[in-house]
Amino acid sequence: MSIFSKIMRGEIPCYKIAENESCFAFLDINPKAKGHTLVIPKKEVDYLFDLEDDEYIALQKFAKKIAEAQKKAFNCKRICTAVIGYEVPHAHIHLLPSNSMADATLSGKTKTFSKEEMAEIAEQIQKYLG
Ligand code: AMP
Repeated sequence: MSIFSKIMRGEIPCYKIAENESCFAFLDINPKAKGHTLVIPKKEVDYLFDLEDDEYIALQKFAKKIAEAQKKAFNCKRICTAVIGYEVPHAHIHLLPSNSMADATLSGKTKTFSKEEMAEIAEQIQKYLG
């Protein structure tokens, strides 16, 4: 079972943002930006483009909702997305709040937030989820 499946099952803690019947969102533990979020399908598939079309569309629709909430929560210019997947073999979309090209990277410095700040960041996003 992937580490992300364990997170979804509550076996490993996370800063959860939201879930629906097929998708789950939580804060990246090594955030490259305040509010850096991962959106994953509940189905354990390594490679994003191996999802069935309907599963892929459901994931992107879910990501859009989270991105809209992030943008309001942090009043940033855009939410950038990235799909890498070399570290964790469970498909995930990175949602990265950004204000400039320099922010829009996963190879930048990891930001440090306390546990309390991470919990507060998750709450800030949740506030804007309809
Ligand atoms: P990649 O597979 O290269 O797209 O990167 C996987 C991402 O998952 C990285 O940004 C990690 O910081 C993140 N990550 C790994 N373990 C956890 C975890 N337990 N909770 C939250 N994020 C994680």
